[in-house]
Amino acid sequence: MESEDIRWIYVSGEKQLATLNLVPGNNVYGEKLVKQDGDEYRIWDPFRSKLAGALKKGLKDLTIKNGSRVLYLGASTGTTVSHVSDIVGNRGIVFAVEPATRVARELIENVAAKRRNVMPIIEDARRPQSYFSVFGKVDVVYCDIAQPDQTEIAISNCTAYLKPGGKMLLVIKTRSIDVTMDPKAVVVQEAKKLEKSGFQIDQIINLEPFDKDHAMIHCTFKQRSE
Ligand code: SAM
Repeated sequence: MESEDIRWIYVSGEKQLATLNLVPGNNVYGEKLVKQDGDEYRIWDPFRSKLAGALKKGLKDLTIKNGSRVLYLGASTGTTVSHVSDIVGNRGIVFAVEPATRVARELIENVAAKRRNVMPIIEDARRPQSYFSVFGKVDVVYCDIAQPDQTEIAISNCTAYLKPGGKMLLVIKTRSIDVTMDPKAVVVQEAKKLEKSGFQIDQIINLEPFDKDHAMIHCTFKQRSE
């Protein structure tokens, strides 16, 4: 997968993923900045970002594009949010939800303060009705919150904010859901919940070796949301 906002770049002979830096000269989590064809790219580390890991493991359709409106649940300090911000560019927007104030402070200071397309929302994703700054519907919901009820939380956010036909990327941390179950069975169980709620499963990716016992489900919201 390659576009002008996301590239595979060779650094010291090694093929690496990178995004076009929306804030040239600025890095967010110590990632390398690389110049190519007169533009500056930020190396995107699959061991630090599950979305980069999913791309490395063969995610067929990133679904997040220049101009996309993204609702991002579990923003943390903004590592992946910053790459999503690079990709959507200034025509798009990332509504970044994170309830933990310590990490949210870093998200605000290191990412949102420098990127006008990142809107931090310091809220619990269990209460989507409390995000007063989200206006209109979004094209993509990205969910990485490592909670036992993460699939139900993701579905309620899609019902509130995802446009019909919109896409969701859901990170499944199998050990957060049930440590005693076979990780593969947990992923199948969560995918079934999505299908019952009107999602079509497009692709399921095992994120090992980048993240142990993690998978990403890429799905389409078929149900009308209003
Ligand atoms: N997505 C981040 C990245 O790639 O840079 C990493 C996310 S980290 C694995 C999970 C985050 O989800 C934590 O920052 C945690 O505070 C947040 N979280 C946990 N419960 C949440 C909830 N109910 N609503 C929103 N975020 C939540």
